[in-house]
Amino acid sequence: MTKRASIASLIPGSQDIYRKIVLEIADGIIGIDESGIIRLCNPAAENIFGWETGQLLGKPLEVVLPERMHSSHGMLVSNFLAGDTDARYMGQRSNGIEGRRSDGAGIHLGITILRTAAAGEPLMIAVVRDISERVRYQQDLKRLAETDPLSGLLNRRAFRDCVAQSLTRVSPVGSSLALFDLDDFKGVNDRYGHDAGDEVITRFADVLRTSTRANDFVGRWGGEEFIVFLPDTTPDAATAIVERIRAGFSDIDFHWERGAPVRLTVSAGIASGEIGQGELDAMVSCADKALYEAKRGGRNRLISTVMQQIALAS
Ligand code: GH3
Ligand code: MG
Ligand code: MG
Repeated sequence: MTKRASIASLIPGSQDIYRKIVLEIADGIIGIDESGIIRLCNPAAENIFGWETGQLLGKPLEVVLPERMHSSHGMLVSNFLAGDTDARYMGQRSNGIEGRRSDGAGIHLGITILRTAAAGEPLMIAVVRDISERVRYQQDLKRLAETDPLSGLLNRRAFRDCVAQSLTRVSPVGSSLALFDLDDFKGVNDRYGHDAGDEVITRFADVLRTSTRANDFVGRWGGEEFIVFLPDTTPDAATAIVERIRAGFSDIDFHWERGAPVRLTVSAGIASGEIGQGELDAMVSCADKALYEAKRGGRNRLISTVMQQIALAS
């Protein structure tokens, strides 16, 4: 079927100007009947979904939807056709609506749906714009804005935001937060150069990543200071995790000089307790005091505190 033929018969009373717009516009236009069968489709829609000319006509709309939407979209269509709204934009969510190409690849779409009728039969038209590139660009920008480039960890601002968002529910066992500060790090820079210092930062970040769980938050707090928020984690469990990190880091061999490898250490302060929204700063300051004690006590160690106790003691 030619482009022209696949459209001409489907636009009621089609006039040249409308036909031309539908044929040439970069937005996809798809019309489905009450049973969800595609009755109208322009070349841009075929292109967006990766189909050959005319191949989408007569197919159920499911062929352009991801599997998890198959059961729910029928209800959406009938509700819309039965409702009294004539047009609705459906791409408000930042990632748009998910679509599926003929090769199975997912795409992000901005969709305006229109309630119309052709030859007395209801017809729902979707004007579809592929916003995948914009979504990818936004995701890249977001990742760049949130990530510390050297360590690949969350930067301070993103760490604060992510933890703040996670504090919307009460934890039954409380949570813990650990602050780490590499010991004698200035000495590494002075003795072996800035690149060696950078290598230490990336290796320590690796230890943090591999020693924490998927729902923990790990960030570079600044310079050679790192921070980990451990949701639903008791003081004992937090101590075990932080001790694993301390020991794992002290086992790394750095080969910056002839002879025996160089080994480094890290100190940590842990604060545990119940934490509500807006209380992250109090927890950080509590962990910071514990970290100071760990440094004062000789470095290469961790000190654990429970929040209320610190508050009472100070
Ligand atoms: P302490 O055991 O008391 O923690 O001593 P320290 O030497 O680790 O602490 P200090 O705060 O005196 O030194 C931190 C150094 O970290 C100073 C700064 O130049 C260095 N630094 C901060 N950010 C970076 C970075 O991204 N790369 C490198 N190579 N060095 C960094
Ligand atoms: Mg420091
Ligand atoms: Mg230090």
